[in-house]
Amino acid sequence: MTTGFFYSKAFLKHDMGRGHPESPERLSAVMNFLQGLDIFDGGHFRLVEPRVATVQELERIHPKDYIEFIRTASDRESRFDADTRASKGSFNAALLAVGAGIKAWEDIVNGEISNAFALVRPPGHHASATQARGFCLFSNVAVVARHITTTMPDSRVLILDIDAHHGNGTQEILYDDPKTLYLGLHQDGRTLYPGYSGFTQELGEGQGRGYNINCPLPPGTADTSFLRALNTLFPPLVKQFQPTAILVSAGYDAHFRDYLTGLNLSTTAYLEISQLIMETSYQICNGNVIMLLEGGYDLKALSESVYNTLIPMSGKGEVIQEKPPEEDPRIPKYVDKLLSVTRDALQPWWQIP
Ligand SMILES: [Zn+2]
Repeated sequence: MTTGFFYSKAFLKHDMGRGHPESPERLSAVMNFLQGLDIFDGGHFRLVEPRVATVQELERIHPKDYIEFIRTASDRESRFDADTRASKGSFNAALLAVGAGIKAWEDIVNGEISNAFALVRPPGHHASATQARGFCLFSNVAVVARHITTTMPDSRVLILDIDAHHGNGTQEILYDDPKTLYLGLHQDGRTLYPGYSGFTQELGEGQGRGYNINCPLPPGTADTSFLRALNTLFPPLVKQFQPTAILVSAGYDAHFRDYLTGLNLSTTAYLEISQLIMETSYQICNGNVIMLLEGGYDLKALSESVYNTLIPMSGKGEVIQEKPPEEDPRIPKYVDKLLSVTRDALQPWWQIP
């Protein structure tokens, strides 16, 4: 069993300026940490240089003039919104971030790797088809999902988004697509960016109605309630949807030390999340899992949590244990109610025990 680990130094050339939380140092910190543990020397991982996504691949989601706009913005180092801008290396990095996911799928199909983790930036889950925003330029996960469902007959892709922020871009782009099921667990939008989306009643539209599922968790949610929500929703959805592959928007800003959000997961939670994803995927889709990095801004939390994620993927490694902060006793009760509302809302499409 080999886990493909996709990384390029070109990701460091995307730079949104000094002091920006979505910094090149995020990836350098993770790489230094993983290389310090010699994880790439034991034969369980294959370090893979991604390829760029082609315009044709991007065009399945992003209009051609938007792709050109990002290219030009990169040359001109333009600003897209208050906290999203381009540098000279941004366009190439963004093409590689999408291409990493596509190449991961190609390598899985060819039997070269069993699963993949793509340590990429810029992240993707806030970008819409025509708008760069929230540190994101292209919708990495949506392009990869659409690539799979377009190139493989009768395929379906389940997207699990565990970033603390709602994946509003992914949701918007795939909202009417029944071949992709989006499941997002995130901090309640009333208390965090993007703010206007990620609520239980957003269920998809048209043919895609029932294929968009949100679980907005209150600030202060720690391991117990997060894992309870994930354990309640994820395995039954995978079993009933029967995806060909599972894509994970692997954000690590739900960690309790992350300074951008109010969720309180420990490093150990990421091990348990990864364990659940891998176990479920082996039962249903041959372990076909591709994780793509989204957020995560505390460098130690990010590095250690990525490492813990890799353990169930590769079947190898010594777990880093960490205790989360205590949950307010009101949180498990709130999450119970939230899950019961979600269960009722999903009743026409999915049976959640
Ligand atoms: Zn985030």
